[in-house]
Amino acid sequence: MAIHCDKIGDTYSFHELDIRLFVTGELELIARYDITPGEHDGRIRLLRQLMYLSKVHEWSIILRLYSEVVSNIERGLLSWASRFDDTLTWAIARQVSSGRASGKPMGGKPTVQRRNQGGKSRPTYCKDYQSNACNFTEDKHWGTVNGERMLVEHICAACLMKRKDVSAHSESSSDCPCKGSRNNSSQ
Ligand SMILES: [Zn+2]
Ligand SMILES: [Zn+2]
Repeated sequence: MAIHCDKIGDTYSFHELDIRLFVTGELELIARYDITPGEHDGRIRLLRQLMYLSKVHEWSIILRLYSEVVSNIERGLLSWASRFDDTLTWAIARQVSSGRASGKPMGGKPTVQRRNQGGKSRPTYCKDYQSNACNFTEDKHWGTVNGERMLVEHICAACLMKRKDVSAHSESSSDCPCKGSRNNSSQ
């Protein structure tokens, strides 16, 4: 039986990130001024440890290790000042043993999880961008969606949902053809 760990479906999932996209996103986050000095140092430490570990483990495992540490921090089980060694060691042990339990050969080809349900994967829109409240100037940047870090884009949420169209305007913009139909209150 396959292990179910990708519930996002056809969106652009965090688990699909390759090493360059991941490191770029993480460095962008580290370079921001609105994170605390503790988080700044912690993220650099975590990134360094993960890069060392990526020499011996598959990239998909490294991404899960990262998710595990960050979600433990979000849940208050760890802080950015913590040593991550124990968490990482346990998480690796679990990944390796669950890989065996599911009958997957370890050390073979890297298993890239890509859910292509009907062709191209759909992008994820930036929530803040819809109300023009996003501080990022980049059209594509890292954000958190349902507790998971993923790349979000400055595209229209309404057009994406209603017309399945990727449009470079925000939901609140007058350019949006879905604007009237989405918000029917009389003006
Ligand atoms: Zn944004
Ligand atoms: Zn639109």
